[in-house]
This record gives sequence, C-alpha cells and structure tokens, in this order.
Amino acid sequence: MHSINTTYLKKPKIISSWIWKQIKNKNDDNNTKQIIRFFTSTTEIQNANKRYADIVKTIPSQLSSYIGGSSSETIQTSNESFDLEDAARGTKISTILEASSGDIQDAVNNAKEAQQEWASYTSLDRSRILMNAGQMLKEQTELFAELECLDTARPFNETLYGDIKSGYDCLEYMSGLAGTGLNGVSVPLESGNWGYTRREPIGVCVGIGAWNYPLQSAVWKSAPALAAGNSIILKPAPETPLTALELAKLYIDAGVPSGCVNVVLGRGEVGHQLATHNDVGKVSFTGSIETGRLVYQNAAKTMKQVTMELGGKSPLIIFGDSNLNDAVSAAMMANWYSNGEVCSNGTRVFVEENIKDEFLKLLIQRTKEMKIGDPMNIETEVGALISKQHFGKVSNYINIGVEEGADLAYGGVVDNSDLIDDEVLQNGYYIQPTIFNNCTDDMRIVKEEIFGPVMSLLTFKTEEEVVERANNSTYGLSAGVFTSDIQRGHRIAHKLQAGTMWINNYNLAPVELPWLGYKSSGLGRENGSTCLLQWTKEKSIYVEMNGIECSYK
Ligand code: NAD
Repeated sequence: MHSINTTYLKKPKIISSWIWKQIKNKNDDNNTKQIIRFFTSTTEIQNANKRYADIVKTIPSQLSSYIGGSSSETIQTSNESFDLEDAARGTKISTILEASSGDIQDAVNNAKEAQQEWASYTSLDRSRILMNAGQMLKEQTELFAELECLDTARPFNETLYGDIKSGYDCLEYMSGLAGTGLNGVSVPLESGNWGYTRREPIGVCVGIGAWNYPLQSAVWKSAPALAAGNSIILKPAPETPLTALELAKLYIDAGVPSGCVNVVLGRGEVGHQLATHNDVGKVSFTGSIETGRLVYQNAAKTMKQVTMELGGKSPLIIFGDSNLNDAVSAAMMANWYSNGEVCSNGTRVFVEENIKDEFLKLLIQRTKEMKIGDPMNIETEVGALISKQHFGKVSNYINIGVEEGADLAYGGVVDNSDLIDDEVLQNGYYIQPTIFNNCTDDMRIVKEEIFGPVMSLLTFKTEEEVVERANNSTYGLSAGVFTSDIQRGHRIAHKLQAGTMWINNYNLAPVELPWLGYKSSGLGRENGSTCLLQWTKEKSIYVEMNGIECSYK
C-alpha cells in the first residue's frame, strides 16, 4: 500500500460537498488509506440495485446444458455440479449441473443431424437468418448486457456499449459473408478440361471460450460457423455460462434449426471430451496458452482443424512526439478496460525517456479519478475480478513486482473497505488499477501475462532499441504505437511481431479486420473478410471434357 497525495484529487461533479468532505477527511486523516472512488449519484445506486435484483431473479437455481433446442430438464446430466458466483459480491447465483459424457454425445448427435438440414438451406436463407439473429440481439441489448455484467463482474457501462454491439456487428457482417463469401473458383485447364473448387461446411464444430468476453467469444465462433453451414457446440467457461445459453435460444428463435447450436456446460474435462470427439471437425479455442497447447495436441490425433486465440503480453510504444493526453488515454484503455482482463492488453508500456515523468504524472492523475465499485452501476469504470482464485493470482503478481524492485507508483492491493464503501460489495474481488514504474525487461511482471489491471512502465531511447525489446517475447498477440510521425508509425507496425496492431489507438476490434495472434499467442484467425474459409473444407473437382488418355492397354 502506498500513501496518497490528495492534491491530485478533483471533486467530481456528481458528489455532494458533504460526502466530498468526508472523503477528503478520510484521506487526509490517514494517508495510508486509498480514496473511496465510488462517487456516484443516489439515482444511479438505486438503478443499479434494481438492475441487479431484476436480473438475478431471472436466473434459475440450477443451470444446465442446452441441447437440441431445449434446456436440460429433459436431458441427463452427470452428478457433478459447481457454483456460479457473482464475483462483485462474492455470493452464489446458481448451481451449474455439469454435462455428462451422455450429454456430450447427445449434443454431438443433435448437431450432426441438424447440420445436414442447415447445410441444405441456400446461403441466402442462412444469411437472412443470421441477419435476423443480429437484429434480435440488438433489440435485446439491455438483457444481454445485464447478464454479461452479472456473469463477468465487468462494468455494465462496457457490456452495454461494447459487448453487445460487437455481437450484432459480427452477426450482421457474417450474414453478408454467408450470402457472398463462399464461392469456389473455376479453373480452365488443358484441352478444354477444367476444374472447380467448392467450399463445403466442416460439419460439427466446437467453440470453447474464456470468461472475460463470453458473449463476444460465443458470437465470434458461432456466427461464422453457421454462416458456412456448420453446426456448433459451445462450451463457455465455467465461470460465465449465461449469455451463451441465451444466445443459443436466440439463434433458434431467429430460425436456425434446433440442434444446430448447443451449449454444453462444464469445466476442463467437458472441453476435453468435446475437443477429442471423433465426430467433431473443428475446435475454435479461446483461453490460455497452456490449455491451448493441450487442445491443439489432442485435436491433432483426429486431424481436426483448429483456431487458437490465446494469451498475450503486448507492448504499447509511446514516442515523445505523441499527443500526451491521447497516449495516456490509450495506456488506460490498454490496461484498465475490463478490469485489465483483456488478452490484447498493452501491459508493457514503453515510453520515450524524455516524456516519461510528464506521462506518469498525467496517468496517475487520470487513473485516480476512475470509479471502482458495483459493476451494475452505469457510472462504474472498474468492476471486480472474475474469481477469488484470479484475485489471488493478480495480487501475487503485484507482490512479485514489489519484490523484484519495481516502483509501485500507484495502486496495489488494499482491503475492500479502503476501496469501496458499499457494504454488499465487501466480499467481491476488487483490485484497483496498479502502475509499476522503472520496470526492467527481465522482471516477471514484465514478461508474464497477469490478466489484471497491472501496468508496467519502461523507458526507451531509440526506435531500433524499442522494437527489439518489444519483440523479445514469446507472445505475439497485439501491439500499439503512438507517434505523430506517421511514417514511423507504419515502419514500426511492420516490424512488430504481433497479429493485431494499432497506430495511435489501442484495443479496438472491428469485425471487418481479422483478429489473430503471432508466435505462442495463436493460430488461425477470427473475423475479417476471409474468416469463413477457416470454417470450411475446400474441395477440388476436375472435369474431363475429352476421352481418357490411358497409359495402359
Ligand atoms: P483457460 O485456458 O483456463 O480456459 C479456457 C477454456 O478452456 C475454458 O472454457 C475451460 O473450461 C476450457 N478448458 C480447460 N481445460 C481444457 C482441456 N483440457 N480441454 C479443453 N478445454 C479445456 O483460460 P481462461 O482462464 O478461461 O482465460 C484466460 C486466458 O484466455 C488468458 O490467457 C487470455 O489472454 C486468453 N484470451 C485470449 C483471447 C484472444 O482472443 N486471443 C480472448 C480472451 C481470452
């Protein structure tokens, strides 16, 4: 814990003078305490409480898999179950009944049968149905945003304005590709012979997701899979099943045949059974590199196609000629968004030496103003981490950073009572944005993925030096560069070993651009105009227009 300097504190507009005085007193009296950042209006607290109560009411006490177009009262489940937790409050929301081997087989059987029907639709009909699904998701933005917020403990502000739009953008884009993007080619050959290629669906595909963006992950896998005429079985992360279940129902209501989209609930073993099933043709996986390697190895046994969207430890390079405020905005978006639980986060922030002090001052000043608290409150900017276990991991890295000798410039692990004043949130897993200054490339906090709001600041002197240091990582998911010299921006973008790059921005993922990782961060891609190819098998057909010339009598 470090002391705070109240001169940085600015009175927010929405807070009454009396409350502000209490906060100032609290901090001035005891400078080891962090500021209570949850300045919010009474109206928004009431709205958040109502939003929470209303959405929790809709969650059944037991959740089970969605197979063949119906939820699982009708299907067999294993005896295994585990709790679904609200990480913002540290309370149980529901019990998840884990899918049994029988359920998994049932899902595959349903998916196999339904895929035949779906593949027989014209591509234009599939396109119309996906467009329908996109429109329906748009209409249900609030419901999905609330479920996603409850499940992930990420701010409602993000799920409402970011996640759901990303979902319907993808559905509408894939609808367009379904109508136009699956044509083969005609190839003229010798003597009037010719050949052509067909793009055929793979069949039954599996989508295994991580817990940070469960809806986005489910849509980014299911929409292209369906657009290409496949069926899909989704296995959301055990911590976050709610929006995938709701999405599967939405697809069926939009016109996708029952059985074409199934959701199988469970932990790693369930994912393993799906990813090794003989009748599954493709596995699209989002998660850690360690699990990804295992899934890739297992998929190889039956030569399945794979897409791997894995972890990162991305560099964000800021040159002295950058617009300082924009560069600080980018560093904040690259580290604090979604409580820091973003695969592409630019957590290695390289700042040119001559502007580092000014950069850090502004960064701390703006970070201090962020509101930590109830994710359901529209004014909250930092919610809770996903679980107690993950809280332990992130806290441990903060301790490691201190032990390694990095300067804790802001943040650190503190008691909830020093961070948020709402009683019901005291058992949630909150960590404030944390900035380490004067880091070195060999520190663990600089090399390893933390997946929480922990930023490492490093300095550099030359372009050549920073490119080499930025590339010195086994990860290669993303990277960013800030400079007003546009030629330098492009030059660096070409040299950095990363699948997704931003020049003068960070962490945007429009569906029109492919999303992919280099090196250990991934294989294959999601989104972009060619992504449907990854959900098809290509067939090459030779057409003989003459008699056969045979070499034998
Ligand atoms: P994880 O690897 O622990 O789990 C991911 C999924 O795999 C879960 O659904 C889990 O149940 C399942 N799983 C576990 N063992 C399995 C097995 N043996 N076979 C099949 N499935 C199995 O990852 P996580 O902690 O849920 O997610 C965090 C990680 O995801 C971070 O590393 C993050 O960077 C990465 N991520 C990457 C992207 C991307 O687009 N590149 C996006 C989001 C998250």
